[in-house]
Amino acid sequence: MIKFNKPYISGHELTYIEQAISSGHTAGNGSFTKKCNTFFEKTYGFKKALLTSSCTDALEMCAILANIQPGDEVIVPSYTFVSTALAFVRQGATIVFADSQTNQPNIDTDKIKSLITNKTKAIVPVHYAGVACDMDKIMSLANQYNLLVIEDAALAIDSYYKNKPLGSIGHLATFSFHETKNISSGEGGLLVINDEQFINRAEIIWEKGTNRAQFFRGEINKYGWVDTGSSFLPSDITAAYLLAQLDNIEKIQIKRKEIWANYMEGLKDFAKQLEIKLPDIPSYSTNNGNMFYMVCKDKNQRKQLINYLKENGICAVFHYQSLHQSTYYHNKYKGEALLNADRFTDCLVRLPLYADLTKDEQNKIIETCNNYHNIVSN
Ligand SMILES: *Cc1c(COP(=O)(O)O)cnc(C)c1O
Repeated sequence: MIKFNKPYISGHELTYIEQAISSGHTAGNGSFTKKCNTFFEKTYGFKKALLTSSCTDALEMCAILANIQPGDEVIVPSYTFVSTALAFVRQGATIVFADSQTNQPNIDTDKIKSLITNKTKAIVPVHYAGVACDMDKIMSLANQYNLLVIEDAALAIDSYYKNKPLGSIGHLATFSFHETKNISSGEGGLLVINDEQFINRAEIIWEKGTNRAQFFRGEINKYGWVDTGSSFLPSDITAAYLLAQLDNIEKIQIKRKEIWANYMEGLKDFAKQLEIKLPDIPSYSTNNGNMFYMVCKDKNQRKQLINYLKENGICAVFHYQSLHQSTYYHNKYKGEALLNADRFTDCLVRLPLYADLTKDEQNKIIETCNNYHNIVSN
């Protein structure tokens, strides 16, 4: 069976983990954490980077930093992972779900304006599959209505909007290093702070509501409880794992993008003949090889294709279920139908994509798709 995902292993993870252990500092904010944070700040120009235990944690920190109160509204695409909404719901926010674009799953920026009310506090664009949302439009709405923009860049490491790294544009941004993402540490995440006014408070929230980070830097002579917060920082063992991946980010990205391009080329005719849509990447965005998805003609076609691939030893999977239709939220949802989000829920399918997918395996996947076309058209 060709798996859907296999986490990349650089080979240096254990060496770094051993160093973390023998250094005697395995708790958070140790030397490996600092090296990772510095890597992100230097490579992508983020004003401040703080490793977290997950992207969900980083989003929860954003909800606290945004000072979300019960009744505040946050605009979130419906076609996203649970955490994009959950982190704000935990602070009492009402989620105002936005639809996707017709041609791709990212938030439809033309629909955001009509969702803004005097209770709106933030917009949380998600760069689906590492493809940029139209950030100029989003930032200009945010400036006009005095809203915060929090980029959920969980899937978007090393991807760019008009030459600007994703995660460097919003006031705040979050990344994930879950085992399914381009770069992983098992579980892991990152909070990015681009608006300086949030830096001090972010460090405190990160460290259980204490000013321990300032104490570590020698800026104060004792630390204590000064604000709300939680234990959002990962251990230095996790950071050691992550650094071994970051050392190899260029290699990983080249491989993933090559696999992505092979799919795009090898599936052109198949897609055209079956009325399946291949990814549509706008000219303002790069592709970071995060995911290769296709949008089937209908739900039934997707089911048949997934089954056929499975019978042939290939694991292809669908993705998010619209959050406005979820068990947890549908009773609270008062907005209109979100037809594009529902279509991606029903019709989107993802093919295996990971750095160690071999040429032979990929050829088999492409051939199997083409065989499926021959079978259904005969
Ligand atoms: C994976 C993912 C998350 C959650 O990341 P964790 O690190 O698992 O918390 C959030 N948002 C999006 C868009 C994701 O794909």
